Amino acid sequence: MTSVAVKNLSLDFGAVSVLKNLNLDVEDGEFLVLLGPSGCGKSTLLNCIAGLLDVSDGQIFIKGRNVTWDEPKDRGIGMVFQSYALYPQMSVKGNLSFGLKNAGVPRDEIDRRIGRTAEILQIEPLLERKPSQLSGGQRQRVAIGRALVRDVDVFLFDEPLSNLDAKLRSELRVEIKRLHQKLANTMIYVTHDQIEAMTLADRIAVMRGGLIQQLDRPQEIYKRPVNLYVAGFIGSPG
Ligand code: ADP
Ligand code: MG
Repeated sequence: MTSVAVKNLSLDFGAVSVLKNLNLDVEDGEFLVLLGPSGCGKSTLLNCIAGLLDVSDGQIFIKGRNVTWDEPKDRGIGMVFQSYALYPQMSVKGNLSFGLKNAGVPRDEIDRRIGRTAEILQIEPLLERKPSQLSGGQRQRVAIGRALVRDVDVFLFDEPLSNLDAKLRSELRVEIKRLHQKLANTMIYVTHDQIEAMTLADRIAVMRGGLIQQLDRPQEIYKRPVNLYVAGFIGSPG
């Protein structure tokens, strides 16, 4: 079954067309990576799916439901951004429970979800700490946790590791992969990093100038790039 479907999506910022009649189907449980250089429209596409940007034209379906004009909170998605954006004055536990309290989730259900999330991400010892008492990697784990506690089917990640150093990046890459294997939910993951894309993705959508140039399994793209742009992008380091 299709988890996320993007149909004929266009997005203009004023006179500038950023997404151009874009189509994308993401399968249930799939790890799909949006890969492309800075400025190609990856975040814009993700923000349209999340409902943080209004589309200029086209539709977005999640689990078969047309959510094009639904509020972000009603779409059944969780999002993790590049910057951790944790509330500095709240404990880790407070950060994890904040959105749930606002959504009216009962106390015992909140505790159950936080317990499960903390276990999965191995942040149980950190629950009473403030963000300032965490390392960069721990903060990003908590940021992932905030998406996880929402108990949704679809996770959107926008370059969640690009602010971390190389060692942490590879550690968390393994962790995100493990998380996906464990939860088996749909993940759409934006990056400009080919190694991240090759190691995490079930399929990669290679983007350029607001269009998807090729969408296929990593090995297939690597072996049979459809054009020189894709070949150069997947082939060249950094
Ligand atoms: P990526 O995430 O791939 O780096 P973005 O989706 O952020 O790319 O941006 C795609 C293009 O849209 C870029 O040319 C960028 O300058 C432009 N853009 C992004 N956000 C806005 C905005 N709020 N107003 C005008 N142009 C924007
Ligand atoms: Mg971006």
